[in-house]
Amino acid sequence: MRPVKEVYRCWAEVDLAALEENLAQIRALAGPQKKVLTVVKADAYGHGLRQIAALLMQGGSDLFGVANLQEARAIRSVGKGWPILMLGACLPFEIGPVIENGIMPAISSLEEAERFDRSAAQQNKSVSIHVKVDTGMGRLGVAPPELGHLLSSIRRMRHLEIKGIFTHYSSAEDDAAFTRRQREIFAQAVHKEMAQGQQFEWIHAQNSGGLLFERDDLCNTVRPGLLVYGIMPPSSRLSELKQPLAFRPALSWKCRVGFLKSVPEGTPLSYGHTCFTRKKSTLATVTVGYGDGYFRIAGNRASVLIGAKRCPVLGRVTMDQAIVDVTDAGNVQAGDEVVLLGSQGTERIDATQLAEWCETVPWEVLTNITYRVPRTYRGGHAA
Ligand SMILES: *Cc1c(COP(=O)(O)O)cnc(C)c1O
Repeated sequence: MRPVKEVYRCWAEVDLAALEENLAQIRALAGPQKKVLTVVKADAYGHGLRQIAALLMQGGSDLFGVANLQEARAIRSVGKGWPILMLGACLPFEIGPVIENGIMPAISSLEEAERFDRSAAQQNKSVSIHVKVDTGMGRLGVAPPELGHLLSSIRRMRHLEIKGIFTHYSSAEDDAAFTRRQREIFAQAVHKEMAQGQQFEWIHAQNSGGLLFERDDLCNTVRPGLLVYGIMPPSSRLSELKQPLAFRPALSWKCRVGFLKSVPEGTPLSYGHTCFTRKKSTLATVTVGYGDGYFRIAGNRASVLIGAKRCPVLGRVTMDQAIVDVTDAGNVQAGDEVVLLGSQGTERIDATQLAEWCETVPWEVLTNITYRVPRTYRGGHAA
């Protein structure tokens, strides 16, 4: 038996040094004047929010973007006083605790602003807010022609303070013309307000795609998520990049060979028999399934790495196990490490590749990894 280093059946390894490098590279891309809002929603894209927030605090993230109150509280538990922006709309019953915890809400309408102002009055507090403008995402935000009215109404509210303004790109990775139009609409709206004396401490628009592909001379803050974790957004605009970039994926995802057997040609495999072996084969049953977040659809599409070789996943992925063809992988033994995401020898599988196999996007591959998968950490100063 080869020595087994860890006891896990299925786990993720997060390289904190990679995150530090990615953050440095984001700063270099954005330029020295810009502040960095790191997006850490969905458990820091599946990397583990507390650990990642601690590292990003040390790395000098200026502001955190979260999706809900629990995430904001988790950040507060790591370090007091860091500015936090709730990216989504606050539910009515979240307003009180959001104010209590000093979290900045994103405001898209007069109605939301009034609710916050009332609740802040009750708490005798002042709330710093970011106003969101919809320039073409269609999700949240005030329509640009109504921005002036919203801001002047908010200025009359006693308990709200306008700290930031932002918008969100819908298609920065692929649609240059539409993204430019979004940027211009936003710039025009913001300039108009600034000309009338409104000041903004935070102005931001660029998600990862925007940061890579859309120039910007208005914003003072960038707002990347995926790039922080070292993954380039899949894009048809890669040729527009002016410099080579070396973002490094921070997360590797692994499991083990649980069982091995040899089967004859024509052996039916897994639920529903979506696969029959084409020749005499050696098969490994590996310790990952959709209960860990490995997509069920990966069967007959994806490969994993065993013995530094690419080995195809055969038949349907089940809840806790999957079948892999290791006929060409050399001497495989029970307990051997299987790489689902990451590298082994000279081979590598990245989240974008797995996403393509599973007809989704790298964001979903990462956030789909379930709580059952322990996250382990190495490297970096916060470890
Ligand atoms: C998730 C999110 C981001 C980060 O997007 P990436 O494509 O991962 O960089 C930025 N802004 C908002 C409003 C978001 O919801």
